Amino acid sequence: MARERLVVIGGDAAGMSAASQARKRRDPADLQIVAFEKGRATSYSACGIPYWISGAVAREDNLIARSPARHRDNGIDVRTRTEVTAIDLAARTVRARDLDDHGREYDEPFDTLVYATGSVPLRPPIAGIDATGVYGVQTLDDGAALRAELDSERVRRVVVVGGGYIGLEIAEACRVRDLDVTVVDRSPTLVGTIDPDIGVFLGDAVRAMGIALVHSEAVVGIETGHDGRATAVHTDAERRLPADLVVLGLGVRPDIDLAQRAGIPLGTSGGIAVDARMRTQVDGVWAAGDCVESVHRLSGQRVVVALGTHANKQGRVIGVNIGGGYATFPGVIGTAVTKVCELEVARTGLSAAEADIAGYRYVTASVDSTTRAGYFPGARPIRIKMLAEKRTGRLLGAQIVGREGAAKRIDVLATAIWNEMGVDEILGLDLSYAPPFAPVWDPVLIAARKAFDAVEADTHT
Ligand SMILES: Cc1cc2nc3c(=O)[nH]c(=O)nc-3n(C[C@H](O)[C@H](O)[C@H](O)COP(=O)(O)OP(=O)(O)OC[C@H]3O[C@@H](n4cnc5c(N)ncnc54)[C@H](O)[C@@H]3O)c2cc1C
Repeated sequence: MARERLVVIGGDAAGMSAASQARKRRDPADLQIVAFEKGRATSYSACGIPYWISGAVAREDNLIARSPARHRDNGIDVRTRTEVTAIDLAARTVRARDLDDHGREYDEPFDTLVYATGSVPLRPPIAGIDATGVYGVQTLDDGAALRAELDSERVRRVVVVGGGYIGLEIAEACRVRDLDVTVVDRSPTLVGTIDPDIGVFLGDAVRAMGIALVHSEAVVGIETGHDGRATAVHTDAERRLPADLVVLGLGVRPDIDLAQRAGIPLGTSGGIAVDARMRTQVDGVWAAGDCVESVHRLSGQRVVVALGTHANKQGRVIGVNIGGGYATFPGVIGTAVTKVCELEVARTGLSAAEADIAGYRYVTASVDSTTRAGYFPGARPIRIKMLAEKRTGRLLGAQIVGREGAAKRIDVLATAIWNEMGVDEILGLDLSYAPPFAPVWDPVLIAARKAFDAVEADTHT
């Protein structure tokens, strides 16, 4: 019997998780796997790029979990520097272009296809957005290009357009390299997925590091010099910010262009529509990672959430299913964490704005505490905000901002939300305590107590 042929488009988190799982479960004599990656690397940590740029991570290699050679040794035919330019669903082929062989093109047949192209940085249609010296950072090759530019020492002034978490991480990395850095964002506070009363601390942390912050101003154009290079950023407040290099930090969109041209249906949110097993609506075609939409377990909405956590899990789900097993992706609840300068920020569940849109009625509670017993050396401030549903007290969302030791507490609250716990149950949780780790009432418990009081007070009014 002829071997089944699996083709994977995209050689990072989602694509190679799918390929590796399928390989683990099915013999090469039964399943041939070809994975196309247009960049040089496979299974790399895009999340680590800012730390390689800053120098905190010494070498690019450190970011590569599994190289193309290792995948090949594992029985996966990885073709790097090869871009898939078209999918023909009727003929069951993809068109591949070998970027190292004068763009040689060929068709590769498939029985089963995994679409895992990730996302691309948002590029709003403003003058100069495609000029030389304007960088979006998504893939390792993007990171390498940015790092090479910074290493060339031509750059003194960096302007980061957009205060999303990726933009801020790159801004910090550039500042660590002693460059003059400005972040411009059209909102009054940074990182739009965080409530403004928590986001406000981010602005303070960014400024404290010597990064200039221009907020409540939208970028309207990028000025270029005679050589076509970006030289300045212009805002709608008629501000001109000179720049030797511009970084885009406006968020990402799913990379669905190939899928769309091939006729693979999208969902309402603009990501590829998939079912719980990560099957698209085309027979034998699967999709995972930043390019798909997921179900938000609290809002019930279809959402595109571009995070490595989901990409890896979704890829694994595909690999298990193609491998003959059964697995489903259970949805997302919006858990994320980042560190901006010395400040840790985390969120899970719904933000206030998201809860409003989803139609929930809720109370909020915020507490300020410390990461260790207040008297213990190294105790740092932490603020926790909770949203609890009126009447039921069910935890709908939580956000944490603080110094070292603060943010990972979000995982307790993510688990609570996942299991639909009420704040009354959370305040009784048997959480660990010793002075080097927490106050006797962990900040999570204090916040739950306060949220519980708020639910009770609201119920009795
Ligand atoms: C700077 C940065 C920091 C981040 N930090 C975090 C974090 O702290 N936590 C977190 O959870 N997530 C983080 N993320 C997000 C995370 O990296 C992504 O969600 C994850 O990489 C998505 O995996 P993916 O496989 O779907 O897509 P990608 O990792 O983008 O991989 C898609 C691959 O497909 C390739 N490709 C695309 N089109 C084609 C084609 N036509 N032919 C061949 N190859 C193609 C691309 O070159 C790319 O290598 C960060 C991202 C960035 C950029």
